[in-house]
Amino acid sequence: MRIRILGAHNCTAGDIKLASLLIDDVLAIDAGALTSSLSFPAQQKLKAILLTHQHYDHVRDIPALAMNAFLHETRLNVYSIPAVYDALAAYLLNDVLYPEFLKKPEGEPVINFTLVTPNQSQPINGYSILAVPVNHCAPAVGYQVTSPDGKGLFYTGDTGPGLAECWQQVEPGLLITELTVPNRYEEFARDKGHLTPDLLKQELDSFREIRGYLPQVITVHMNPRQENEIATEIAEVARSLSNPIRLGYEGMIIDL
Ligand SMILES: [Zn+2]
Ligand SMILES: [Zn+2]
Repeated sequence: MRIRILGAHNCTAGDIKLASLLIDDVLAIDAGALTSSLSFPAQQKLKAILLTHQHYDHVRDIPALAMNAFLHETRLNVYSIPAVYDALAAYLLNDVLYPEFLKKPEGEPVINFTLVTPNQSQPINGYSILAVPVNHCAPAVGYQVTSPDGKGLFYTGDTGPGLAECWQQVEPGLLITELTVPNRYEEFARDKGHLTPDLLKQELDSFREIRGYLPQVITVHMNPRQENEIATEIAEVARSLSNPIRLGYEGMIIDL
């Protein structure tokens, strides 16, 4: 399984992009950087797009991807929870901001939207996909993606602390986790459902207690303005856990 991080930040400017992962060129998770990173032919290779939650930085490219699919006479397969469908239908694809691609053309809409059932594996394009609820200020799931050869990654999407129940469900070789702000913003992180380095350490302690090991860890969704501070604090967490933690970046490739 080849994972490419297309967007590793919580805001965007030039080469700094919003959350998006690409797996084996065919599966995408979150849509913050798909049109800005992928050519038309690369967009057409996408067999499925999994969305973690409704926030703009994670769904932003869905309207533009849908327009591209419409103009190229192809279709988009999007998977997520009901809250994401509702938000897209109400606010983005509502015939006010952009065409109703969830409903049109009638009978065969541009976006084929499939609801995922949390905590229940489902096959999508040869992968086993497991959506697991996480703790954010909007309804949100993380995704475990397991390839036919048994290699697996878990991507948290946006989440705050309290992931013990989530760790019961997943067993990845690679954990791609959100890590938005440095330790001094813990109150904000707890309030909005995000992680700081210290909060991530507690979650990794809990992971190790439940699963008996630690996976490779890569962080995304960092605030670029505070990235140096985050890097210093994450290095300390990695030292205390004796487990490497890498900061993700745009264009990073991980072979699993
Ligand atoms: Zn969010
Ligand atoms: Zn976000």
